[in-house]
Amino acid sequence: MHYPDSKDRSAELLRLAIPMMAQQPAPLHPITYAVWYDYLAGRNADLRAEVDSARANGVPLSDELVHTLYRRHILDAATNAAHQVSDGLRAVIDEVGQTASATGERVTEFTAALQAKSGRIASLGGPAGLGAEIDALLSDSRDTGASLAVLSQRLLSATAELEKLRTELDLVKVQATMDSLTGVANRRGFDETIEQLLREQAPGQAGPSVVLIDLDHFKQINDQYGHVFGDTVLKSVALAIRSCVKGRDLVARYGGEEFVVLLPGTALAGAGALAEQIRTTIAGARIRRGANHETVGNITVSLGVACWKPGETLETLIDRADQALYRSKREGRNRVTTGN
Ligand code: GH3
Ligand code: MG
Ligand code: MG
Repeated sequence: MHYPDSKDRSAELLRLAIPMMAQQPAPLHPITYAVWYDYLAGRNADLRAEVDSARANGVPLSDELVHTLYRRHILDAATNAAHQVSDGLRAVIDEVGQTASATGERVTEFTAALQAKSGRIASLGGPAGLGAEIDALLSDSRDTGASLAVLSQRLLSATAELEKLRTELDLVKVQATMDSLTGVANRRGFDETIEQLLREQAPGQAGPSVVLIDLDHFKQINDQYGHVFGDTVLKSVALAIRSCVKGRDLVARYGGEEFVVLLPGTALAGAGALAEQIRTTIAGARIRRGANHETVGNITVSLGVACWKPGETLETLIDRADQALYRSKREGRNRVTTGN
């Protein structure tokens, strides 16, 4: 992120931001401030339009909305800008390449014509020195041809460099939505996917449902066997959850020792059945530990299931799943609670 404002100007933006942030429900953390700073600095037209529209429609800037705005208009904008620069460069390189190759063809034709004429002049025995002049022209023309060939070669390698850059950028984008420990999506990947799903949800279509999964007494596992084994358990649990889902279902690590499964087009009953399958798969798993591969059993999870209701915000949906999960904990853990 690049902020070109002077100290005075940024102090002014800070003064303006404080009352605006105070009027909204989102907590006053740096992400909230980054959104308001960009809004007030007036450099981010898309962000400004979305905030203005929310304010005009009386939509409060909740913590969730602030995070979405930050991601969409500040974080992703940097990657998108890099993509645009690379697209622009690619277009320029292609154009220069086409011109170079057309010019190269003309130089080749010209060189051939000169060569033919040089032969004819020599055979006609023209004025002294003319043959030498034409030979000099011929040599210049060959040099030009050779320079153009070098240019084409350099343009080709510049294109290859750009392609590499694009692949790296795409990888950064994918990594930004992945959890590095378990390899499943991270909270950001989940949020982006469900937000898009809810935007595109057709009326009357079932779901989506979410299953929140929290490891039981995980602190004890860490305390008893150490953090490294705790991490192994998290990886195994992620794998076990993955083995139970298919197709468009998304598994994500929602935070610490909590996972979430997003089930598009799935009503509550189907989601509850899948949650039960996840629960029994994990309860039945045996994870190996240490050099002598001692098996550790009794790793269980509690689950809470909720199905999206039309018009409901993501925050409310997660809150309902969380309440169901909380009930599973209260009623003894290693169980599924299906919300209403
Ligand atoms: P409960 O059944 O009520 O959920 O109990 P709990 O012990 O699982 O819950 P609590 O919230 O008390 O503790 C969660 C623990 O998860 C504490 C924290 O150290 C551990 N944890 C969170 N993230 C990681 C991680 O990435 N690796 C490891 N090894 N442990 C983690
Ligand atoms: Mg927890
Ligand atoms: Mg827990």
